[in-house]
Amino acid sequence: MKVKKAWGQTTLPLKIVLMLVLLLLIVANKQVRSSVCDDSSVCLQVLGSGGPELGDQRASSSYLIWVNGKAKVLIDVGAGSSLNFEKSGAKFEDLEAILFTHLHVDHSADLPAFIKASFFTARDRDLPIFGPEGNSLMPSTAEFVQNLFGGDGAFRYLKDYINTSETGNYHLQTHDLPMELHRVQTYRLTADIVLKAIPVHHGPIPAIAWRINTLGYSITFSGDMNNNYHTLSILAKDTDILVMHNAIPESASGVASWLHIKPSEIGEIAKQAKVKQVVLSHRMQRTLGKERETKQHIEQSYSGPILFANDLDSFRIIRR
Ligand SMILES: [Zn+2]
Repeated sequence: MKVKKAWGQTTLPLKIVLMLVLLLLIVANKQVRSSVCDDSSVCLQVLGSGGPELGDQRASSSYLIWVNGKAKVLIDVGAGSSLNFEKSGAKFEDLEAILFTHLHVDHSADLPAFIKASFFTARDRDLPIFGPEGNSLMPSTAEFVQNLFGGDGAFRYLKDYINTSETGNYHLQTHDLPMELHRVQTYRLTADIVLKAIPVHHGPIPAIAWRINTLGYSITFSGDMNNNYHTLSILAKDTDILVMHNAIPESASGVASWLHIKPSEIGEIAKQAKVKQVVLSHRMQRTLGKERETKQHIEQSYSGPILFANDLDSFRIIRR
């Protein structure tokens, strides 16, 4: 009885102390991992934390930015992202834009699924789609959408979504970004959301890193890249969350390292740009299970928080 009484006497103050410590940690770190994006903060939600593999047990690359409780910007739409979009509770009619980092299958395959599904939503205003221009290997973003939904496209039965003479639907508005190195391109999407973009090196593929600025915060997405252009640190300067793709281990070489960035280079960029937190995504079988090693290589340069993403993880940025 004495023990029970003693415990009872100390429980309440202990709880209060623990809550205060937790609150202080939240305020100090600003970014908090949780399972949902509530309506009180700017929030990053991971819809797809994997790459193109069948065996990684993850959806392919895709992210949502939530602002004031609504899903506003969708970055990449790899396979499986439409299912996780459903699970997230996001509404397609709330989206202000879809952004492509590049047009590889693991970043773009679910676009037809989203557009078809939108028929069953309340969306009635046009939807901008931003992505890179093309080259001899890849279509431009506008060509990609045309190749899917145009009159000769694979899904031409959905052509009304790009035919502006059809008034019964909303329309997709495509924007091709030029691959102008070292120039940050800026687009005001809404009164509260500004998009910034810069080309990054992904082998021969036109590729863009994106930064979304909203309500005084920013989240930056590397997309697939290695650092041959040395451009990402310009875009990511002082960003609240830098989402980097952890597609290869430090020991990678050849084509893999021509296309993707090594952990030590992630650390150098994060340090150079003074980012407040790094989230590692696009996890593949060659990096899964090597998280400790990956973190150690990043920490050689960067001393801030490093978190590994899983599907449907949310990272909230708390207002001070
Ligand atoms: Zn990829």
